[in-house]
Amino acid sequence: MSVYRRKFNEKVLVHRPRLRRFLTKLENNLPRGIDRLTLEADRETWAEVDCLACSNCCRVMTPTYTPQDLKRITAHLGMTIDDFKEKWLYKDRKGEWMNRSTPCQFLDRRTNMCSIYPIRPADCAGFPHLAKRPAAEYMHIHRQNVQYCPATFTFVEKLIEKVGKL
Ligand code: SF4
Ligand code: SF4
Repeated sequence: MSVYRRKFNEKVLVHRPRLRRFLTKLENNLPRGIDRLTLEADRETWAEVDCLACSNCCRVMTPTYTPQDLKRITAHLGMTIDDFKEKWLYKDRKGEWMNRSTPCQFLDRRTNMCSIYPIRPADCAGFPHLAKRPAAEYMHIHRQNVQYCPATFTFVEKLIEKVGKL
């Protein structure tokens, strides 16, 4: 495990309960202007966090593949959708297609780069959904992701600071 990911895991163990408590409180009592605050926190987060030093999401989580993702990716790879599913995916209880194993088969573990980046699943392109609106509907998602994603962790720390100043 890289030093970056090991340090992040150590930090998460200490701070996760506090960050999750904050998100629960925020969800139940949203301040006015929360959408503006999340936009600001999102911008500041990406000025600090480098996904290429991390790739944790590609290592420990799986994207959900939509029918459009499957069409686009299999066309690029020259495979049939059935062969693609059989080789790499499984259908979960909700009937959604997910990677069968982690890390993702498209991750280059040496460089942390995605080998299908321009045509990656929409789920990957949108992750970690920091500035999505309405912000209230994403608090439970941040609560889950804060333990895997350094960007979410940084974003929530920034929100704590901003909400405290209101
Ligand atoms: S498709 Fe690419 S971005 Fe998505 S999980 Fe796999 S390696 Fe990561
Ligand atoms: S989105 Fe989060 S978990 Fe994924 S690479 Fe970036 S910082 Fe790491």
